[in-house]
Amino acid sequence: MFVLRLNKSGMPQAWITPEDAAKHYAQGRVLFELGESKKILHGGWNNQGVQSVLELSSIIACEGKVTAMGGEISLCNRYLFRRDNYLCMYCGQKFKPSQLTRDHIMPRSRGGKDIWTNTATACSRCNCHKAARTPEEAGMTLIAIPFVPNVYERFYLMNRRILSDQMAFLGNHFSQNRSWCA
Ligand SMILES: [Zn+2]
Repeated sequence: MFVLRLNKSGMPQAWITPEDAAKHYAQGRVLFELGESKKILHGGWNNQGVQSVLELSSIIACEGKVTAMGGEISLCNRYLFRRDNYLCMYCGQKFKPSQLTRDHIMPRSRGGKDIWTNTATACSRCNCHKAARTPEEAGMTLIAIPFVPNVYERFYLMNRRILSDQMAFLGNHFSQNRSWCA
């Protein structure tokens, strides 16, 4: 599992390994815990033969510099397909990542930009059919409006093994209702 590290105002900062989380605990930098799930880490043995045990929370807020995380997540197919829940945004069917393509809603050949709000997940068949046309010209309708992921959505996109309490935390801050589930 990965631990979601927040800053003191509760903004996601990073997914970290349990070992890195343990360092924050050891240095007394953990301000509060929000996760419900716990991970037990076993440490060294003392001279009475007792092994140290550390209980990590799945979400921890740590002391340190507050990063604004204002920048956009870079657009790549892995995140784009996950944003669209592996559904073709035209026919609505679910596909494996290898069967999906990045569609430019306003085609690139006509000045459409390669940005989150001009791209949609499409199966090869729909993408081929649409070709260098707008959805209107091709008589096709998008099943959802493409959006730029906010910081919480970005952390969702970055980790494919999110625990349910981490998902609940991130999901509270999603910008729209999504069909996303962990
Ligand atoms: Zn399709």
